[in-house]
Amino acid sequence: MKYVDEFRDPEKAKVLIAKINALYEQIPQIAIRPLQLMEFCGGHTHTIFRYGIEPMLPDWIELIHGPGCPVCVLPMGRVDDCVALAERPDVIFTTFGDAMRVPGSKKSLLQAKAEGADIRMVYSPLDSLELARKNPDRQVIFFALGFETTMPSTALTVLQAKNEGLDNFSLFCNHITTVPTIKAILDSPDMKIDGFLAPGHVSMVVGEQPFHFVSDAYDKPIVITGFEPLDILQSIWMVLKQIAENRCEVENQYARIVPPAGNEPGLKAIEKVFEIREFFEWRGLGSIDHSGVKMRNEFARFDAEQKFSIPNLKIADPKSCQCGEVLKGVIRPWECKVFGGSCTPETPMGALMVSTEGACAAYYNFGNLPELLSKRDQQNKENTA
Ligand code: SF4
Repeated sequence: MKYVDEFRDPEKAKVLIAKINALYEQIPQIAIRPLQLMEFCGGHTHTIFRYGIEPMLPDWIELIHGPGCPVCVLPMGRVDDCVALAERPDVIFTTFGDAMRVPGSKKSLLQAKAEGADIRMVYSPLDSLELARKNPDRQVIFFALGFETTMPSTALTVLQAKNEGLDNFSLFCNHITTVPTIKAILDSPDMKIDGFLAPGHVSMVVGEQPFHFVSDAYDKPIVITGFEPLDILQSIWMVLKQIAENRCEVENQYARIVPPAGNEPGLKAIEKVFEIREFFEWRGLGSIDHSGVKMRNEFARFDAEQKFSIPNLKIADPKSCQCGEVLKGVIRPWECKVFGGSCTPETPMGALMVSTEGACAAYYNFGNLPELLSKRDQQNKENTA
């Protein structure tokens, strides 16, 4: 296929749905419980809701929306750190737009901006570098956020700043890593995941190899997946086919973009600038070993965490917020007590309602809201009866 609309062809979608349904007889465990497939990546969650994929699937498949949206898993304490940095009078704080509304314990970056902090939205870390060149009397901090997908661009920006001898540019590094997080999900006693759709953009950087532990050590099929509706349907079929044939492998549905060995120059830049943190705190999931990176010591002068003092406090999520249970697939987003009430995209209490890739925002924006809310109320009545 050559053009994007070919990946959205309803007739081809029908063929794939028929192929998925045809596997029913070959998967005996369906008789015991529905199969749970996790799409790790928030981009996949967005496609699933935008194109109404979930209702097309048979009821013996349950999609679990994983924690692969870096904005959604940012803990409150890190947002507070951003606000503290941004409120310094000598600082221009730069960030991607989707991080502006993530709630901290007292305010979001958007609220801090409204109160006078110099916070600017950028489209690339290079935009921040340009601001640093143009404002030599100010400190420009880039809020580095994202999985391995965005790490190469931040790493290359730091290398560029070093080459130019820019001393007023630094990163507040919140980059997180995919593999330890999938491992934490697999080790969680709450989880019963039968197979994974692996993140396509992350894989474009890291390649296929890092996912082999899922099939080799945990006996789960995993398919690297693209972001169009037919990509998702084909990958679901590929995971189910592995289950039907009693196979566990890493397969690459997104081979048109993902080279098996990943992106070598990108990986080299990451390796040069970053090293693994001992642990990183995730909203809703707690601390996960080795699930983030920090800057290597030789780049300390570009590291906002070392250059400035930050509160660095661990802040618990509000009690009514059930983001953690949603992220682990223990409850559906609409089952959260505050979904659609005190938590909406306009007034998000949890981060899953902020980003368009967050599972709660996806259900809120694309689901049948009255139906979902009445289903939750009905469930609550039954549970209290
Ligand atoms: S509805 Fe709000 S508080 Fe509840 S899980 Fe979703 S984002 Fe978190």
